[in-house]
Amino acid sequence: TTTTTTTHIALVSIPAFSHQVSILEFAKRLLNLHNNTFNITCIIPTLNSSYNNIATKPFFDSLPPNIHCIFLPSVYFEDLNNNGVSVEIQIQLSVSRAMPSVRETLRSLFDATNNVVAIVADAMVPEALDFGKELGILSYIYFPCSTMLLSLCLHSSNLDEQVSCEYRDHPNLIEIPGCISIYGRDLPNSVQNRSSLEYKLFLQRCQRYRSAHDGILVNSFMELEEEATKAITQHAKGNGNCSYPPVYPIGPITQTGPSDPKSGCECLLWLDKQPPNSVLYVSFGSGGTLCQEQINELALGLELSRHKFLWVNLRAPNDRASATYFSDGGLVDDPLHFLPLGFIERTKGQGLVMCGWAPQVEVLGHKSIGAFLTHCGWNSVLESVVHGVPMMAWPLFAEQRTNAALVTDGLKVAVRPNVDTSGNSVVVKEEIVKLIKSLMEGLVGEEIRRRMKELQKFAECAVMKDGSSTRTICKLAHKWKSLGRP
Ligand code: UDP
Repeated sequence: TTTTTTTHIALVSIPAFSHQVSILEFAKRLLNLHNNTFNITCIIPTLNSSYNNIATKPFFDSLPPNIHCIFLPSVYFEDLNNNGVSVEIQIQLSVSRAMPSVRETLRSLFDATNNVVAIVADAMVPEALDFGKELGILSYIYFPCSTMLLSLCLHSSNLDEQVSCEYRDHPNLIEIPGCISIYGRDLPNSVQNRSSLEYKLFLQRCQRYRSAHDGILVNSFMELEEEATKAITQHAKGNGNCSYPPVYPIGPITQTGPSDPKSGCECLLWLDKQPPNSVLYVSFGSGGTLCQEQINELALGLELSRHKFLWVNLRAPNDRASATYFSDGGLVDDPLHFLPLGFIERTKGQGLVMCGWAPQVEVLGHKSIGAFLTHCGWNSVLESVVHGVPMMAWPLFAEQRTNAALVTDGLKVAVRPNVDTSGNSVVVKEEIVKLIKSLMEGLVGEEIRRRMKELQKFAECAVMKDGSSTRTICKLAHKWKSLGRP
């Protein structure tokens, strides 16, 4: 039998590639599981910057015909794009400015197709759920981060009441329902200054999550974060006056490509020539930058470890870790200016340094990769899990330290370097050498590898035909289809 494509789903994303990839990969998965019986439109606010265009274009160009992206005209953003303003604030304020345009676009889509049954909005734009209500359709949050972070968000107003000082000064570990206890300093950046606008906006967002009645789709899976999921679910079953919305773990949703063939070739060819499991892959994500002193220490640490390495996305030094998140201005052609003198020559044969974008998913899937030094962006973490690659957790900003705590202390699939707090808060080369060796050659590394392979199996199972996440997506899909018009 053939089914006509009728049911329409609207997605709302934000101007950050990692978020766009995640929600669009979810859309692809929905289509794959349901024989293309959905039409999906993704509305994407943009900023007036050419954020990583070259690298990300192939991804958008290859979307299936049932997925349609609408890039909204860019909002005025210049006043936010200066050194004092954090990435989170920039995103939050700029998407708020785009909301009238999102609303108008949704309304015309709704009128034109007459068959939009649900809105799924990125976690940074929970305001979009109000538009769902206006149109009388279902509305969900798409949470492209861990269930642990979601549990923290849902619990944030309680924490705000219970703790009176800055979280990082709190004498005890912070308790998040269903999660490992963590140091206050490992909570997301948004909560690190409680008198800031950022913290206020964070609490407001979390408040909206709690009232997302139709539910929250989270890019994690039951087997990865069972306790956290259960803690939220228990609360969802009505717990006095503060009941949580239903959560739907639908992951791991990871990038399936394709990536830019030009940028990828060199490093994949190089990897082909290396022995199995021998290379440490180093990447700080689509925008992470290090200061000059840290670049020196990392370079020397890599060199002294004598292990093979592939260091990609190297950017010019900056004291602000998220300095290049919205622009590829940090990408340079000649890393020689800021790498230690003679480093490139001395490490010929040992390592490859690339300033450009890497085909990360192909790299992580390559048999030569032995470990991943990662900034712990949630997509990178999931990609590492999906490919069974042990990690060295090197968080920089946003919620990356919380992810680092989860993978290190909770899941025990990563090592995490100590930061030398006596000087400039850098990780010194001796520490880097020690950790690379423990990960690549020691017993600790072996145990981490074993656990990572276990997680990889669970991840595979979650997305198989009868897997936990597949069943969850199918449940949602059936509900949505039942509302669509034949
Ligand atoms: N990525 C990539 N090539 C690069 C750097 C990043 O393909 O050189 C992809 C990576 O595979 C992941 C995403 O970009 O899917 C980065 O998302 P993540 O959540 O890890 O971090 P963010 O970039 O948001 O800090």
